[in-house]
Amino acid sequence: MTDRSNELTAWDRDHFFHPSTHMAAHARGDTPTRVVTGGEGVYIVDRDGRRSLDAFAGLYCVNVGYGRRQIADAIAEQAGKLAYYHAYVGHGTEASVTLSKMIIDRAPQGMSRVYFGLSGSDANETNIKLVWYYNNVLGRPEKKKIISRWRGYHGSGVMTGSLTGLELFHKAFDLPRPPILHTEAPYYFRRADRSMTEEQFSQHCADKLEEMILAEGPDTVAAFIGEPVLGTGGIVPPPAGYWEKIQAVLAKYDVLLIADEVVTGFGRLGSMFGSDHYGMKPDLITIAKGLTSAYAPLSGTIVSERMWRVLEKGSDQMGPIGHGWTYSAHPICAAAGVANLALIDEMGLVDNARETGAYFRAALAEALAGHRLVGEVRGEGLMAAVEFVEDKDDRRFFPAEAKVGPRLSAAMLERGVIARAMPQGDILGFAPPLCLTREEADTVVAAALGAVKAVAAEL
Ligand code: PMP
Repeated sequence: MTDRSNELTAWDRDHFFHPSTHMAAHARGDTPTRVVTGGEGVYIVDRDGRRSLDAFAGLYCVNVGYGRRQIADAIAEQAGKLAYYHAYVGHGTEASVTLSKMIIDRAPQGMSRVYFGLSGSDANETNIKLVWYYNNVLGRPEKKKIISRWRGYHGSGVMTGSLTGLELFHKAFDLPRPPILHTEAPYYFRRADRSMTEEQFSQHCADKLEEMILAEGPDTVAAFIGEPVLGTGGIVPPPAGYWEKIQAVLAKYDVLLIADEVVTGFGRLGSMFGSDHYGMKPDLITIAKGLTSAYAPLSGTIVSERMWRVLEKGSDQMGPIGHGWTYSAHPICAAAGVANLALIDEMGLVDNARETGAYFRAALAEALAGHRLVGEVRGEGLMAAVEFVEDKDDRRFFPAEAKVGPRLSAAMLERGVIARAMPQGDILGFAPPLCLTREEADTVVAAALGAVKAVAAEL
């Protein structure tokens, strides 16, 4: 390491309060610091010249890959022309207006408006408020509860952290808060009753949801939120028939559906939206990450025309909506979004996610599924997970202290590939940029196999 790298490392340990990091271990120097300086395609490079294939696209967000000139130029041009103007009281910029049209052109049928934010968390915060607003306009002040799922991930704010169904994001923060509730995760591999088929398990999840709605009182339940494919909770595609059965329950009790497509929006599953992929008909869709491929922070709430008609009435009753961010529809971020969505089309990335995704997942399964520590290899499009078990036949899991997931992720990094140890369970997650080639997919699979063998030998 150079002197400069040492200096940066010292500053980092002394002054940088990192998100999702073991604070004491980091300050002590027990965990690695990595100062990343560049990226191209699916690779990143750090100050010490180490190059890694980023098979998690940052935090599943750099969908077009790193170093795309087209987006960088669009950002620079917008910054030079007009770095900022707000979007309050009917203002817009060419970039933000154009982007809203591009999003609706790509969104599932029936969606008509976009509200812009900066992060997935604030977009879900907007969703919660729109759901409440909607029921206030309709004169149903009691209908306010929102049902999420254990293992769902919807953000880190007070309310969105409550929507999230992961212990790490609740403990020590007095979360979750009412009126947020959690129902069963559609996690077939971890289901209690092993005799159930996927369809039966989906029905069981829908029954659990219905029980909760009835116990709480349908007049108090406003919305249900879910990721088309559970992401941070373990990269778990829904069991067969899940969304169909869930939507039947929601329709029965007049409960809105929020599809959180922060990860799945704009191609990750091999369809433009996960809602289309699974036949979901949401009232609200959360978008972020893939909207700009993280070249600039931008999120959005896509509103259905049906819901919009009610919201619109609200302003005739109550005046302008009392909800806004200074940086809503920030022009630099919007310019990044316009260039990014154009690039996704030009590069054919949605098709590539489907085709290379299928190739990658098949190769991963072929290399790993037979290994004694591998319980399941699963995924959809360019999202995949390998779940590790101590005992395959009993489906017995390792204790958390064994840190099998983090060790596997570290072993992969030693082999030049970044895969993410998902926060709950021993799960290696893969969500590479959507431009991944078959050769790059082979590199990821080879590193995964090497890592599994190395960690298995230690255990
Ligand atoms: N929803 C989902 C499905 C996510 O995966 C994430 C972030 N990983 C969020 C919301 C929150 O987004 P952000 O971190 O931008 O606030």
